[in-house]
Amino acid sequence: MTDIFDHWPAPLARVSTRHCVALSIGFALEASDEELDGLLLDGETKQPLSAGDVRRIARQHQAAGRTVLPPCDQTNAEGLCVGHPIYQLQEDSQCS
Ligand SMILES: [Zn+2]
Repeated sequence: MTDIFDHWPAPLARVSTRHCVALSIGFALEASDEELDGLLLDGETKQPLSAGDVRRIARQHQAAGRTVLPPCDQTNAEGLCVGHPIYQLQEDSQCS
């Protein structure tokens, strides 16, 4: 994966990659209401989702061929996070 920082003129070094945790669709469709209620938050309102909401969303993603609920907007076809690069300013930077 390339991004703008691969061509950035600033002296940045890629030091790590962060991956988001994803919830298995299989688990979401078989778990009890008690296990699912409030487990996930709505991405926009940040309010807890009901078990029914989680199952509905899981079925939509399953129909799209995913095996997990995509945790972010940088996922592969399965829904797994492909990673978010973490950059750090290089110590020998001559920026002024
Ligand atoms: Zn991610």
